[in-house]
Amino acid sequence: MLSTTIDEKIVKRAYSIASISSECINTWIISFCIKRVEWWVFSSYTIDVMQIGDVFTIQWPAGRMVYTPMPAQTYLLISVWSGLSPLYSIYNQLIVSGNYTQIYNLFWERFLSHIPASVQKVLEKSHDRVWSRTYFSREDEKNYIWQSWIYHHGYIQAWLHDLLPTLPRDNIQIYICGKPAMVDEVTDILLASGYDKAYIHSEKY
Ligand SMILES: Cc1cc2nc3c(=O)[nH]c(=O)nc-3n(C[C@H](O)[C@H](O)[C@H](O)COP(=O)(O)OP(=O)(O)OC[C@H]3O[C@@H](n4cnc5c(N)ncnc54)[C@H](O)[C@@H]3O)c2cc1C
Repeated sequence: MLSTTIDEKIVKRAYSIASISSECINTWIISFCIKRVEWWVFSSYTIDVMQIGDVFTIQWPAGRMVYTPMPAQTYLLISVWSGLSPLYSIYNQLIVSGNYTQIYNLFWERFLSHIPASVQKVLEKSHDRVWSRTYFSREDEKNYIWQSWIYHHGYIQAWLHDLLPTLPRDNIQIYICGKPAMVDEVTDILLASGYDKAYIHSEKY
């Protein structure tokens, strides 16, 4: 939970830590990934108004979705919009530790330009143990290759139906974060496909 003073009022909002624990310990730097929406109070203030040297207060932890390191598992990470933030740190933590069998990373945004270049680098990564797919619903109705990155038109849910039959039912951890309607819909798809509730960790933003 972050808090700061905006227009003489104390304003508090929940933000997920986007850096991995070793970065926080080694550098004493804690990163956040905040989705700016014009006219929204805290998010637009942090990006449009705040300057170096301004002060935030970090308060108590909020939210229920916690990453717990486990013996190597398959990870399915599903996020939309600002829901990317906690999954970005989980993803980076897994890559640094190497402690995973496979990672499947699905992400949705409206436009390609809404994703910062540093995050794009992570999302475009795919190799034998990491499989990423990014969806844009407001870009042209075609799939594109942009630089080395293939991106897709539409929404995550459509592709899940194709992906799920290829994934294991056990030794899998599923993290879902983003808009409430998406989290509910994806959870229903997973439960209907036979996934145990215990493997599903989610947070609604
Ligand atoms: C556990 C948790 C973790 C989170 N982590 C992150 C994170 O890492 N990154 C991130 O970006 N977000 C995160 N969020 C969301 C975050 O807490 C805020 O809700 C989000 O940034 C919006 O806050 P705000 O002050 O910018 O918007 P607000 O000003 O509070 O606006 C929010 C709502 O009010 C409405 N609204 C605002 N202004 C107007 C207006 N003028 N007219 C009409 N309607 C209006 C908007 O439609 C919107 O629905 C997290 C939420 C939770 C619960």
